[in-house]
Amino acid sequence: MIEFKNIEKYYGNFHALKNINLKIDEGETVVLIGPSGSGKSTLIRTVNGLEEIQEGQLLVNGFDLHDPKTDMNRIRKNVGMVFQHFNLYNNKSTIENVMLAPRLVLKRDEAENKREAMALLEKVGLADKAANMPSELSGGQKQRAAIARSLAMKPKALLFDEPTSALDPEMIGDVLDVMRDIAKDSSMTMLVVTHEMSFAKAVADRVIFMADGEILEDSSTKEFFENPKEERAKQFLSQVA
Ligand code: ATP
Ligand code: MG
Repeated sequence: MIEFKNIEKYYGNFHALKNINLKIDEGETVVLIGPSGSGKSTLIRTVNGLEEIQEGQLLVNGFDLHDPKTDMNRIRKNVGMVFQHFNLYNNKSTIENVMLAPRLVLKRDEAENKREAMALLEKVGLADKAANMPSELSGGQKQRAAIARSLAMKPKALLFDEPTSALDPEMIGDVLDVMRDIAKDSSMTMLVVTHEMSFAKAVADRVIFMADGEILEDSSTKEFFENPKEERAKQFLSQVA
């Protein structure tokens, strides 16, 4: 579903991703961890073309992102992204945030769009906030609205970049619960950058550990937490656990 082959990414002279090889199958939930500045956001943002790569091949659903014939809009329809700072449209109500892209991009019928948006708000526990503006939502509610908005496009994959790290501690659990529910859907592919190790342990199929732009470890969740191979991964775990 998502495959990185010998990917190199530079910001000017700075080598941000170094020979990245990574394959994520359909339905897998993969958690990506590593110290600040290791390249996690850069890696995740390459998947829907928010960052360009300089070398290598990146395949999403069999389409090569580097091929000029590849339609990026089509990739973005299939790959949703949830950011640390929600990025909701602040001048639109919660339900309008959810309905906007299906209306504009998919031309979804208005009544059906509304029905599906309400069902998604129900799913993330926000049915009673449908008419509220983002400014009237808590941080955790904003993030759940952002997740509903991503799901509205019925993506095949969802990318999460530290979805809970801007939230007050008491808001984190509800967001992680929603993500856990989504991960249970066996057809949804998820790549999640997070420092929530309990979430990783409970939900991830695999853990990728990055440092200095490289993947140092790519292991099953059990193997990673019980028996990390790399010294830097051990150090990292002792700091976050
Ligand atoms: P954090 O945990 O702090 O979010 P990260 O692992 O997500 O860190 P990235 O944001 O991917 O790290 O950054 C990786 C490296 O690339 C860092 O050294 C960063 O300074 C650099 N970098 C990121 N974005 C840019 C940019 N637009 N221009 C130049 N350098 C950048
Ligand atoms: Mg980051």
